Amino acid sequence: VNAEVITIGSELLHGIVRDTNFEMIARMLGEIGVEVAFHTTVGDDSERMGEVFRAAVHRGGAVIATGGLGPTSDDVTRKVIATVFRRRLVLDETVLDRIRARFRARGMEMPPINEGQALVPRGAKVIENERGSAPGLHFAHQQVELFFLPGVPSEAEGMLTQYVIPFLRQKAEGLQIGRRTVRTIGISESLLAERLQALEGEEPAVTFGYLAHPSGVDLHVSAASRDPNWLRGELDRVERKLIEAVGVHAYGTGRQTLSDVVGQALAGRGLRLATAESFTGGAIGVALTATPGSSRYYAGGVVAYSNEAKKELLGVGSDSLRRYGAVSAEVALEMARGARERFGADIAIASTGIAGPDGASEEKPVGLALLALAASDEEAGERHLFGGGRTEIVSRATAVALDLLRRHLGAGIAWSEPSSRS
Ligand code: ATP
Ligand code: MG
Repeated sequence: VNAEVITIGSELLHGIVRDTNFEMIARMLGEIGVEVAFHTTVGDDSERMGEVFRAAVHRGGAVIATGGLGPTSDDVTRKVIATVFRRRLVLDETVLDRIRARFRARGMEMPPINEGQALVPRGAKVIENERGSAPGLHFAHQQVELFFLPGVPSEAEGMLTQYVIPFLRQKAEGLQIGRRTVRTIGISESLLAERLQALEGEEPAVTFGYLAHPSGVDLHVSAASRDPNWLRGELDRVERKLIEAVGVHAYGTGRQTLSDVVGQALAGRGLRLATAESFTGGAIGVALTATPGSSRYYAGGVVAYSNEAKKELLGVGSDSLRRYGAVSAEVALEMARGARERFGADIAIASTGIAGPDGASEEKPVGLALLALAASDEEAGERHLFGGGRTEIVSRATAVALDLLRRHLGAGIAWSEPSSRS
């Protein structure tokens, strides 16, 4: 089975509202093995909407549409359905009662304008709306199953999980989709693809996908089968092969974050961590504390943006600041040392750099990041030059700072691979 998702609303075409309904529907369909073959967005315009509906039915997959079922004049979906599919609109008394009751429950009279929401195309099944007034609609036209849902994301979500997805899952005859994710950092998408080319060739039953974030590349693998045991076994095996091939760059699986991985290692060893941040402005601390239970190992951090703060709060030397500048390997390391000492931590990491767009010079371009780590047995520093805008540069630096810590701790799923250490 495949499907077409139609999202209706001029605000979507104008770029004012993000099309989260599509994202949600596509994800849910993926989970039950229904392929999204087309995604169309159309404004609140009867004629264009009609064209889109006709084309979708002609293409032949199941159709899931959201939006335009409301009571206002710009909500025309119902009228277009009536015209295109030649189904007269009939007032459904049960639906009308339900809408009235919803208003009454809130101490209001139903405005007459809402009566239109009880108009149902003849022969269509009404999908109950537990979260709002507009009901959803379901009917088949020329063997094509069509579902029309309200635009409000929470209302559409309710109907999808209650009605649409179970219906389509049954049609898909028990085909299950399994997915795995291996998360990587410190290796580019193209290098990764090159390294995995042979492996991909050996696994024709599995689909591979690469998704790059500012902080790394996620490898997605999926397979479909009616046999859940086979599916689990296959995905386990391919996941292991992937981790082996990616080596030390693979830091986690599923939804694990870098912060989760370093947190686990720190907590497991009873180590305490401190941070000293300049140009990441606290982003490293935010990432660390996003992991529940981080108070067990995260002592705290300092955002030392000015030279004064670096001196006063972290004990960075005036000499170093003058001689090397605030954006330098020397200052990054002194920041890490200072944080480690002042927080009484076992390990500290520090960041300094140029997020741009101003403040760059020839030797110190936008995107330059100096990251440092200070521990009792090791001191380390790294220099990176990141691309992208201000936000991406900070995200990348944050991730790499956590990865510096991860590598120091030897944490991550693939660390036992000595051949791939780099
Ligand atoms: P209502 O009964 O609330 O009028 P409706 O079916 O008419 O429902 P719309 O008027 O199209 O829905 O949209 C309702 C709200 O949901 C608006 O705030 C709209 O911006 C939002 N919305 C509509 N479509 C989407 C979408 N595809 N993704 C995210 N939000 C959406
Ligand atoms: Mg609308």
